[in-house]
Amino acid sequence: MSISNNLNSILNQIPSHVMLVAVSKTHPVSAIQEAYKFGQKHFGENKVQELIEKQTALSKDIYWHLIGHLQSNKVKYIAPFVFLIHSVDSLKLLQEINKEGLKNKRVINCLLQVYIAKEETKYGLDSHELDAIINELDNLPFVKIYGLMGMASNTENAEQVRMEFRGLKVLFDKLKLIKKENFQLEILSMGMSSDYLLAIEEGSNLIRVGSSIFGSRDYSN
Ligand SMILES: *Cc1c(COP(=O)(O)O)cnc(C)c1O
Repeated sequence: MSISNNLNSILNQIPSHVMLVAVSKTHPVSAIQEAYKFGQKHFGENKVQELIEKQTALSKDIYWHLIGHLQSNKVKYIAPFVFLIHSVDSLKLLQEINKEGLKNKRVINCLLQVYIAKEETKYGLDSHELDAIINELDNLPFVKIYGLMGMASNTENAEQVRMEFRGLKVLFDKLKLIKKENFQLEILSMGMSSDYLLAIEEGSNLIRVGSSIFGSRDYSN
């Protein structure tokens, strides 16, 4: 199967209100170009260095999503152009994004990454940290929180994955009632290659799909 065939079959499976971010990490610029020619404009990367290299090499009308853990000292490299940061997992990081937004005179769009998996993963906010961030937002005018992102447990147990997504949707609907200048929840980013259909059933409106588009990743080199 080619990249365009893969994209086509995914787009045919998902409702039109669901946005597809093509996760191109580890794949070459040529693979992104193939998807781009097919009409895909939103791409996700999880490493700043790789994101910068690809952004420099590729068309400037691509929308770049940072989906992996972001270190505060690297925010400055992506602040001028990043479209959406999915992985805000601390107040400290959000404060740094705000600072770089001010420097670049642009409001930077963010999602709050919420910890939903049962397994021990490193990143994501719990409900106390979420509250603390929401309470700080009046002091952070150069960020805008557009939604939540979550990653379910890496398990074959579909019911568990479903319950984790469902929990995040409940939280999303609850926080949606809060309205601030820079807090307007619209995007619920959940679902990857193995679970995007399930995620959509549970209310996702943005899926981050890598291997089902570009094939499996090679981390050996
Ligand atoms: C790699 C990655 C994806 C895509 O994973 P696939 O299983 O290849 O679809 C989605 N979200 C995040 C945060 C990732 O790091």
